[in-house]
Amino acid sequence: MNLGNCPRCGKLFAMNFRDICPDCTKKIELEYQACAEFLREHRGSTMEELSDATEVTTRQIIKFIREGRISVIDAPNLSYPCEVCGTTFIKESNMCPSCRTRLTKELSQSVKDGQARKEADLHGKGAYSAVNKYNK
Ligand SMILES: [Zn+2]
Ligand SMILES: [Zn+2]
Repeated sequence: MNLGNCPRCGKLFAMNFRDICPDCTKKIELEYQACAEFLREHRGSTMEELSDATEVTTRQIIKFIREGRISVIDAPNLSYPCEVCGTTFIKESNMCPSCRTRLTKELSQSVKDGQARKEADLHGKGAYSAVNKYNK
């Protein structure tokens, strides 16, 4: 038996199939049902309204959205802060479009840098063999 502390309540439990304890699993299930029910009746509610009404933490609600259990199609006003900058509110994935654009640019820039270095290496070798030729 693999014992571990539940990351949610800190209780010791057998970590065989889940990473949180059975009590918390049940509680999360109830929280999900409360959210789903509230959203059925209040489609346009925001994250705060949903959290206030159900007493489910926004962190848990964000988890539900990320897991795809709560769909923002059903709740068009639910949004959560971008994981990268934390200031822009988003409805899908884990970062806002501007952070994504910036990261994509940085990524392609580092790929380009890598290519430039490779080309410089090739040119370097070319120059070296040319020198060799003249020396012969
Ligand atoms: Zn627990
Ligand atoms: Zn961002």
